[in-house]
Amino acid sequence: MLTLLLAAACLSSPAPQAEFVAVRCGEFWPEPSAEVQSNVVLLIREGKIQQVLAAGEQLPPLDQVHDLSEAFVMPGWIDCHVHLTGELSRKSRLEYVTLSEAAVTLRTVMHARRTVEAGFTTVRDLGADTGAIFAVRDSIQRGEIPGPHILAAGSAVTPSGGHGDPTHGYRETLFDLPGISSGVADGVSQCRAAVRHQVRRGADVIKLTATGGVLSETAAGTDQQFFDDELRAIIDTAHMLGRRVAAHAHGPTGMAAALRAGVDSIEHGSFLNQECLALFLEKGAWLVPTLHAGQTVLTYAGDPDWFPAVIARKARMVGPVMMRSLGRAHKAGVRIAFGTDCGVGAHGLNAEEFSLMVRAGMSPTAALTSATTGAAELCGLAESHGKLAPGYAADLVALSADPRGDIGLTEKPLAVMRAGRLALWEGQRIAWNEVQPKK
Ligand SMILES: [Zn+2]
Repeated sequence: MLTLLLAAACLSSPAPQAEFVAVRCGEFWPEPSAEVQSNVVLLIREGKIQQVLAAGEQLPPLDQVHDLSEAFVMPGWIDCHVHLTGELSRKSRLEYVTLSEAAVTLRTVMHARRTVEAGFTTVRDLGADTGAIFAVRDSIQRGEIPGPHILAAGSAVTPSGGHGDPTHGYRETLFDLPGISSGVADGVSQCRAAVRHQVRRGADVIKLTATGGVLSETAAGTDQQFFDDELRAIIDTAHMLGRRVAAHAHGPTGMAAALRAGVDSIEHGSFLNQECLALFLEKGAWLVPTLHAGQTVLTYAGDPDWFPAVIARKARMVGPVMMRSLGRAHKAGVRIAFGTDCGVGAHGLNAEEFSLMVRAGMSPTAALTSATTGAAELCGLAESHGKLAPGYAADLVALSADPRGDIGLTEKPLAVMRAGRLALWEGQRIAWNEVQPKK
């Protein structure tokens, strides 16, 4: 399929020192609103696209050429909602109190690698229960390990006993009462302090839980959990500090309250109603639908070993309505950004969301836009990510054909490049030449 000879050449050379890297693209789709071009060469330097050359144009001396002349090349995808530090399993609740932070870090490294190999070159990590996410983010950025560009929220900001409170469902004596260090905050001043604390830890974005959740072991339902003044305190503090805010929301009262308070995106949006739709449009907020998580918990809820009864009940209810709500929101003109909530579903299966979005009523082009230019805009990365143009990150996915003809092709990428370095070639994991830390 792809030229093996050139792949071998790229594996044997010390990748990070390369002056110019070129990628020959058979078909090239710079962004979903553009036309597909044939026989284009991308010239890449220091992780960014320098030039896009048409067939026949003169090439400068090159260090490496990656031949994708039989492939369809498009921008790497952005998943606006993952949890790289964990992955739901029957052992998750036990592992929360048994795995060391170091063990969590090693798993995070593995999840990050699977994610980039699946074509997701940027992710927003919306809630991690250890600082592992910051260390992994920074290590990837330095080129030491493979993985996507990560925007990390750290701990979600949540009311005590709310969806993100890490202690509910456990014996009381196991934990001290949680506070702002784990994101738990009540009242305006604690809410402000909790945001400032996440920013101090290195958060790029702030996550709050505006409503109850599916996987929290409380019978508090899926509606509003923060008071309006608490929501405003979180969002205003984050915006003052230059961070966008993502709100977990299932039920309509909490969703509407978060939208009124000025949140940038609603995550899940399961039970959105007419009032919520009007607020989305009025405020210009984004919906991140996470259908993949809805489908995953629906599957697991059929097995009594998976969830306690209180969770299974919610899982069965929430999964199917997410699909309908996305269809309604898209039809109404709400801006949609791609997000899977992987960590609920398995890392590396992120692209399954594309087919689910199409089933929910989006066109393949709209679904692909939501994971490229759309997601980049929500993440504040519209000037650097989400399209293949000079000055943008050299983040790309190569597929066997145009995915608008068969959206399922997104689940089988042939090659993935992030910041000018290959993470996948011929559909296979390849050796990673780590950049040595500077002495
Ligand atoms: Zn989530």
